[in-house]
Amino acid sequence: MRIHKVAVLAGDGIGKEVMPEGIRAVEAAARRFGIGIEWASFDWPSCDYYQAHGKMMPDDWKEQLAGFDALFFGAVGWPETVPDHISLWGSLLKFRRQFDQYINLRPVRLLPGVPCPLANKQPGDIDMVIVRENTEGEYSSVGGRMFEGTEREFVLQEAVFTRTGVDRALKFAFELAQKRPKKHLTSATKSNGISISMPYWDERVEAIGADYPEVRHDKYHIDILAARFVLSPERFDVVVASNLFGDILSDLGPACAGTIGIAPSANLNPERGFPSLFEPVHGSAPDIYGKNIANPIAMIWCGAMMLDFLGHREAHDAIVAAVERCLVDGPRTPDLGGTADTTAVGQAIAAMI
Ligand code: ATP
Ligand code: MG
Repeated sequence: MRIHKVAVLAGDGIGKEVMPEGIRAVEAAARRFGIGIEWASFDWPSCDYYQAHGKMMPDDWKEQLAGFDALFFGAVGWPETVPDHISLWGSLLKFRRQFDQYINLRPVRLLPGVPCPLANKQPGDIDMVIVRENTEGEYSSVGGRMFEGTEREFVLQEAVFTRTGVDRALKFAFELAQKRPKKHLTSATKSNGISISMPYWDERVEAIGADYPEVRHDKYHIDILAARFVLSPERFDVVVASNLFGDILSDLGPACAGTIGIAPSANLNPERGFPSLFEPVHGSAPDIYGKNIANPIAMIWCGAMMLDFLGHREAHDAIVAAVERCLVDGPRTPDLGGTADTTAVGQAIAAMI
């Protein structure tokens, strides 16, 4: 049996509370399907580590983590002691860039038992995957300020779209669409207003799309696309977007499908030259930390995505099926109107697996 090495990075706040339940679910699936997992826990990146050492992680973090098959990540951030841009740039954004995790993947599904904020939507109406380009685009650090403090003051920040960066994200999205029943891909653009980079993006969608004749593809400008997410999310299957547009859509999508407490995400290096990272969409939620009431389902679903990426589709399906069952007739945390605590929900799901 091949043993998968997984680094556990629980982080801050409720990351520390939901992580044990994520591990519990993965262990239950691993036992059922005979999968070997070797866990190693780290107390960084975290704001506690920052307070003691003045940085979110040790300098040799890359060497320490590079040999793992996956990073299982809770949440970082504790704005009372460390500003969010420091905790984020000092951890997650380093992983994304230096481990070349160029795909950010977010499945968005409206599940039975989860109240939907949109009117007249039934479970099954929302079932999409958002693929966000995760390493370049609008989030370049190219630019600067000039003539600061004078009337001539100006700031400039460039967006960077490379052929390699755009194509590999699009290929991933088309491959994914090809494997799904609807075989439909929607591209987010804004080529009517952003006149250089977005027409290029559109061109590459056409070029890559030509290799996937079975996949029907269309495009929408980001403004109307956001409106359609809310008005008619059932239109979408795979949605591919640049870094900024994907960032926005991948928060909007889970919001349309109910509580943030159940939404998972993955930062993938599909070539597997570096470890990929699996993290809930939610943050460290300081407002509810310490009460053991955080919903562990997002973390548990991340565990399912991790096992899928490690080659265990059957284990993924078993965890997701247990989550679905728990949402219908199992214990619920307060964000879903229940009174159960984090541990009780995690134990119930592990038992169902
Ligand atoms: P980020 O750290 O990603 O910037 P944030 O700090 O703005 O996010 P979160 O930490 O995700 O926000 O919390 C947003 C709201 O959602 C909070 O009120 C929090 O209590 C709630 N929340 C987040 N995660 C969960 C969860 N797993 N269970 C229940 N409520 C949650
Ligand atoms: Mg936060």
